[in-house]
Amino acid sequence: MAPNKKRNQPPPSSPPPTDAAASEETTTETPQPIQPIDVFYCKVCTFPLEYCEFGSRFSKCKEWLKDEQPEIFNRYYSEEALQAKIGTLSLEGQALLEKDTAKKEAKAEAKALAEAKKKEASTVTIKRIQRNKNKYVTSIHGLEAFGIDLKKAAKFFATKFACGSSVTKNPQGLDEIVVQGDVSGDIVEMIEDQVGLLKGIPPDNVVQVEEKKKKGDS
Ligand SMILES: [Zn+2]
Repeated sequence: MAPNKKRNQPPPSSPPPTDAAASEETTTETPQPIQPIDVFYCKVCTFPLEYCEFGSRFSKCKEWLKDEQPEIFNRYYSEEALQAKIGTLSLEGQALLEKDTAKKEAKAEAKALAEAKKKEASTVTIKRIQRNKNKYVTSIHGLEAFGIDLKKAAKFFATKFACGSSVTKNPQGLDEIVVQGDVSGDIVEMIEDQVGLLKGIPPDNVVQVEEKKKKGDS
């Protein structure tokens, strides 16, 4: 667009001078209004876009935004936008901000990786325990590694099997769920079918154990 530098020379069909003055006045009075911005929420970190930089996945946020909303991306992260923003920060401040972001991202990544590894390595042990001749209980250990709340799970089993179910400490001092009755097979099936809050436990990570009543116990 070639700007018209000869401001004093009106185009042939120009309006009379009074109008010209009026229009000039309006332009100075009401500067080009900034378009209202709809609040967009980042699909990556779920915050409004302005807050992405405070999250731990800022790089991913930016990638997403660039693909989804290139216009908005430019508004926030184009060279000019960044220059304008950085201009308000000292060099030290910039370096700190970058370092901080990198640190946060590394931390979040390490955490996600550790969680994934933990899940992969975790087993859920379902043990059928014989209490006496005709009485069995079933203990379920290891659900917490899959982010399952044990109290909720105990309640879930109690409802499902209409029997007693509670969170207790096992002899090793670890929390586990003990359900009254032999429901080990049912629980294995429920995990295979990914029922309710058992969803997410890989069936391959389930180990079934049998604990026989020891001789001499009564
Ligand atoms: Zn974000």
